[in-house]
Amino acid sequence: MRRGSNLPAVGTYNQTLVLDLIRRAPEGASRSELAALTGLSAQTLSNVARRLVDEGWVVEGTPVAAGPGKPRTPLRLDPTARCAIGIHLDPAVDTLVVVDLTGAVVAHSQRTPRQTDDTSELVADLAHAVEELLRDAGVARDRVLGVGVAAPGPLDADRGDLFEPPLLLPAWHHAPLAGLLREATGLAVTVEKDVIAAMVGELWTDTAGALDDAIFVYYGAGVGAGLAVDGSPLRGRTGNAGDIAHLVVEPDGPECGCGQRGCLGVAIAPERLLVDAGVLPPKSVVTAPEIRARLAEFAARSDAGDRRVQATVTKAAGSLARGIVQMNNLLDADVVVVGGPLWASLRGAGAAVARAVSESSETATVRGIRLLESRLGTDVAAVGAACLVLDSALTARPTDLLIASR
Ligand SMILES: [Zn+2]
Repeated sequence: MRRGSNLPAVGTYNQTLVLDLIRRAPEGASRSELAALTGLSAQTLSNVARRLVDEGWVVEGTPVAAGPGKPRTPLRLDPTARCAIGIHLDPAVDTLVVVDLTGAVVAHSQRTPRQTDDTSELVADLAHAVEELLRDAGVARDRVLGVGVAAPGPLDADRGDLFEPPLLLPAWHHAPLAGLLREATGLAVTVEKDVIAAMVGELWTDTAGALDDAIFVYYGAGVGAGLAVDGSPLRGRTGNAGDIAHLVVEPDGPECGCGQRGCLGVAIAPERLLVDAGVLPPKSVVTAPEIRARLAEFAARSDAGDRRVQATVTKAAGSLARGIVQMNNLLDADVVVVGGPLWASLRGAGAAVARAVSESSETATVRGIRLLESRLGTDVAAVGAACLVLDSALTARPTDLLIASR
């Protein structure tokens, strides 16, 4: 799933490989089954299994009699053996999660980012929030595999540096985020673009392979797409794949900063929807946390039957559907997951997008597009960032065999 990484792996390639197989077997896997699957000798497998048990990664289940011969003793992952931290830096709210080895959230916190122009204050704040979360969750530091951070692009994913994400506080601009946070927390840190992290989170919890080829449409302060191809997230050369803000979906729509009209980013921007629905007066200048608060009002009005809000959502859904159809024509994925921090405020948008997609005359798919709502809700990018850490530690890659020293 991931190319080179500075996060620590579980151990040797064999150990990671065996753990990966155990993790994917909900009923557990016995030593003989694992030997057959890996091609390792019974002796090697027994050694690897003993090490995994000694280090607390797996536990021995109750022996089950299976025909003549020795009963089968399943080895199961201990989800609590280690954990990972995920942080989502969003203009309106920072979300922090701790996930266990299955990717399940065991602790969660949210905070409004401090409005400051001092980068070191932001980093210290974040490190403090990490310590607080670990303390509240009762998690010992030596169980933490590392920290994954999801941030708006553009960024340098390999180095973990931010460029000038227009949606984040200027104090984050050009910050070597991974390095600063590593120094402040003493933990390994990896940084990923938010939409890619969201796709990773969905993939990690998708044991059925339904999302091997899929598009994640992320709706937050900005709109973006996380793409999965052959079961792996598509990062692109610099880790910034998935910028769909300038797909033209409304040819006579509002002007965009890029010079075109009706780009997806401006067409369905939360600010525009709030103005169209009459929740904000035209030309309002509002901060990101304020937009979040107004969207809660927008959702409440929709729940109360406000037709103007509902019509606004339907129109936005139509615009989003045009973008989805274009992306799907390019990728032939046929599965689209929608979510992101502000998605839930657009009541009924999922059904409206599905309808508009199915009625589209521009679609080239032969099977139709399946639209799914994210299972991870507003935490999706934070959970995905934490899953990056798990993935890095728990997924065996043949390339690990080629790297002698890391
Ligand atoms: Zn544009």
